[in-house]
Amino acid sequence: MLISSAFDSGKINVVNSDDPANIRLKIPKDSNSDFYQWFYFRASGIADTACKFTIENASGAAYPEGWQNYRVCASYDRETWFRIETRFDGTSLTWEAEPDQDSIYFAYFAPYTMEQHADLIASVSLSPLVKTSVLGHTLDGQDMDLVEIGHGPEGRKIIWLIARQHPGETMAEWWMEGALDYLLDPDNPVARALLKKVHFYIVPNMNPDGSKRGNLRTNAAGANLNREWLTPSMERSPEVFLVRQKMQETGMDLLMDVHGDEAIPQNFLAGFEGIPDASDEKINQFKQFRDTLCAVSPDFQQKVGYPESTPGSATLKICTDYIAATFNCVSMTLEMPFKDNDDLPDPNFGWSPERCAHLGRSSIDTIHLIIDEI
Ligand SMILES: [Zn+2]
Repeated sequence: MLISSAFDSGKINVVNSDDPANIRLKIPKDSNSDFYQWFYFRASGIADTACKFTIENASGAAYPEGWQNYRVCASYDRETWFRIETRFDGTSLTWEAEPDQDSIYFAYFAPYTMEQHADLIASVSLSPLVKTSVLGHTLDGQDMDLVEIGHGPEGRKIIWLIARQHPGETMAEWWMEGALDYLLDPDNPVARALLKKVHFYIVPNMNPDGSKRGNLRTNAAGANLNREWLTPSMERSPEVFLVRQKMQETGMDLLMDVHGDEAIPQNFLAGFEGIPDASDEKINQFKQFRDTLCAVSPDFQQKVGYPESTPGSATLKICTDYIAATFNCVSMTLEMPFKDNDDLPDPNFGWSPERCAHLGRSSIDTIHLIIDEI
């Protein structure tokens, strides 16, 4: 049998794969960083063979609590990703499989590769509502793609949607697929009405290098992009530098920054209560957005999430805080689970690409419902 990960977004180290009943693996660290948790690999030559896979360094991962009640994602065709029962004993992560096919893929979450990203940009660019542009290059020389949707910024509110600052949080780009598809459907009344009032700037992937390299949290230089917003540089964090520069040019009325959370098995929003002099008006608008998304989508809730920051505690290194403070606008971090939404669990697929896309559509519905208030 063979284990491989030398492909777009692939990541694993093999300790020993001589015995299919005891395949021992380790997750490599992110580029120039100590973070690790993302894995994506193929096992081949194993049809009808009872296999046991063990990730031996699971407890040292960035978020070991992410392995509690976690089930690994598996696929034969790289389109349908189903879940397999998985055990975490406090040290290592283990699962068993007896594949029907000669080869099977395993990943931390359904991957969204840079090839899929290129397909997404090419397909949305066909819409007459879309203008695509390249803001500049990453450290690995990849393009920073920007998608504009609308009839022009003049006289309209400006909304930015960005995703995947943390490249291993692939659910964020699955969310983007849903949001983009919904906004570009010429028969969708919500999109047609919304685009009379809003011009969108969208970055479906903030971290192309980390995505291709199979990192969980960092870019090629080892920078955690969601700590770079106060002082980004072309040497360390060109992704943030280029996007922030464009934001300064366009201005902003609302930002959604889309992420995944390793540990919490629910969807939730985090706001900007920690910034100095946060305006009550803007915080109330954020809460109104959150209440509305709750009403729109049974996959969203607001009982579980991050604790609210104390006013004045934010350092503005984080995107949501930096944007709220700089533009005095509504700004939020959306977190989706790696595991499942425990309020509406799915035993076969857990939290899945299709459910991310639905939440993307619900988020656009929510923007439509609150747009006149912001
Ligand atoms: Zn994140």
